[in-house]
Amino acid sequence: MTTDLEVGLYIFMLAGFLGYHLITRVPPLLHTPLMSATNAIAAISLVGSLVVAGSDYSDVEYGWVCTLLGFIAVTCSSTNAVGGFLITDRMLRMFKTAEERKGGGEWAGQRALRVLLALFVAVVGLLFWARPAGMGMGEFLREHVASEALRYSYILSAAMFVLGLKGLSSPKWARSGMLLAAFGMFLAVVGTLFDPHIVTYRWIALGFLIGTVVGGTMGLRIPMTAVPQRTALSHSLGALAACLVGISEYFRFGGELSRVTLTALDFQVIVGGLTFTGSLMAAAKLQELLPGRPITYRGQNILSLSLLSVIVGSAVYLVVTQTATPFFYVMVTLSLVFGLLLVIPIGAADMPVVIALLNSYGGLADAAMGFVLMNKIQIITGSLDGTSGFLLSLLMCRAMNRSVANVLFGAFGKVSDEDAAAAGAEAKGTVRSIVAEETAVLLETARNLIVVPGYGMAVAQAQHAVAELASILKERGVDTKYAIHPVAGRMPGHMNVLLAEANVPYDQLFEMEAINPYFPEADIVLVVGANDVTNPAAKSNKSSPLYGMPILEVERAKSIIVLKRSMRPGFAGVDNDLYYNEKCMMLFGDAKTSITKLISEMKSLL
Ligand code: NAP
Repeated sequence: MTTDLEVGLYIFMLAGFLGYHLITRVPPLLHTPLMSATNAIAAISLVGSLVVAGSDYSDVEYGWVCTLLGFIAVTCSSTNAVGGFLITDRMLRMFKTAEERKGGGEWAGQRALRVLLALFVAVVGLLFWARPAGMGMGEFLREHVASEALRYSYILSAAMFVLGLKGLSSPKWARSGMLLAAFGMFLAVVGTLFDPHIVTYRWIALGFLIGTVVGGTMGLRIPMTAVPQRTALSHSLGALAACLVGISEYFRFGGELSRVTLTALDFQVIVGGLTFTGSLMAAAKLQELLPGRPITYRGQNILSLSLLSVIVGSAVYLVVTQTATPFFYVMVTLSLVFGLLLVIPIGAADMPVVIALLNSYGGLADAAMGFVLMNKIQIITGSLDGTSGFLLSLLMCRAMNRSVANVLFGAFGKVSDEDAAAAGAEAKGTVRSIVAEETAVLLETARNLIVVPGYGMAVAQAQHAVAELASILKERGVDTKYAIHPVAGRMPGHMNVLLAEANVPYDQLFEMEAINPYFPEADIVLVVGANDVTNPAAKSNKSSPLYGMPILEVERAKSIIVLKRSMRPGFAGVDNDLYYNEKCMMLFGDAKTSITKLISEMKSLL
């Protein structure tokens, strides 16, 4: 075992522990920004891509192939970096308390940004001043600065990434933290440009340009509701970059690589390849380009397992024989197919768990790239990213009371015709409906209101209408709280992001454990497009698929009004016992239309 490898493994493990420590401190409120933040940090694959795109291949037959692969990898990684940091900042900018919304003033990060920029300019000025008379700046940088810049920029950027993730432990510091992380990425990239292997910047510059335009457009334009598919797409780009860099290294060095490097490289291309196609598939399902339901067929698991065995067998063969063989490319192709097979049987609603897992795989592919190139910053960020994705998927599964295996292989959400018929036939009592006019009168008399948002609010895009209704009620002395279930919606922290977008101060949002004791005091609970997260069967019915999932105890309120379009079930595909409760009334219709009607009724009651 070489010393470099030992050091790399220590770094990998320590970064993993540090990641665990940092990520467990991120509140559920910030889980969606966390997903896109780690995604942006995972764009560190850019560092390896730059070296591949800019290296000298004059002694390699068909060396242009390596340059081309490097160029594509730079384009993909810079799209990720720019898009990831921009969308994370867009999200974090929305998280404000009522006080902060009134206050305005200068954001602490602006000062930090000025200090960082001033420092950067000072360093550039100092270098210019220190340059010996008569020596060109390029020569001075190459001869005297390059190796130090490379080393110190990586140390600084690792510290910035850690501080960035630490910032996510509170909405107050999250934006400044992400600014530091973005600066860390900038430093790592600038440092890498000094890498002595880089002899041309032409393809690097072009890749950067395309990546910045594409990533910038995605980061600034994509609506908040499309964050899950953007994150999935981003994972696919990051993983593709890792896979291409690995292919390029094999193409160049083939049989000359040591067994240790070959092991890491096999891992890099296999995990990178399957994450690339798996994430593309996840994005397509979430964007409804492909059917969202789980697609299953006979012998599915056997086929997937056989394919995996062939892939692993090939990897072992390559490491043992240490030869440059086209067999390597067959292994890569099979990994791409395996990624598709892995995600096809999973329903669209389970995609957030899959995305978090793929995020973790992407991180591991990056770390493997770090081992291949012996690049410590990639090992650190890959490990941080791997831990973050894995933890997030575990947290989601725990909140749904399901195992990761059930999500990956359970084909959850695949409702057979018989099941659907049975669900429709089962009647559990009387359902009372109510109209907007009556609801407005009831709200007029309430003193304490709790709003329970769910996936339907996202579908209806009703968050702005909900916020407007709450502010009208506040003016009339009604105390309004929002109850946020950890898995309401379709991604962790989904409701927090939507409500923040509608300018709801985050200090009015209460997590499940905090709000449950308040339900008995609530005069009215307004359930806006939430279903499973309010189903009392989760507490009492052992045969329900929801049994054991902690829920919002809505049924303890004095009265309940549910806004949804029909009696159709939610994600879990089961009837909701709450709707047959005598305190519950259904306001049928699209949530946004219903609330808009409610607002105009409330106004007419003045
Ligand atoms: P849900 O149980 O899926 O129910 C959403 C409800 O919204 C549906 O019953 C639907 O009823 C209604 N709806 C849809 N469009 C609407 C519209 N335009 N206007 C009004 N209502 C509309 O949602 P949830 O209560 O938020 O629970 C989330 C579920 O997703 C949980 O089962 C959770 O385990 C799962 N999940 C969450 C995550 C996550 O990270 N958040 C990840 C994976 C899975 P109608 O069709 O009758 O309108």
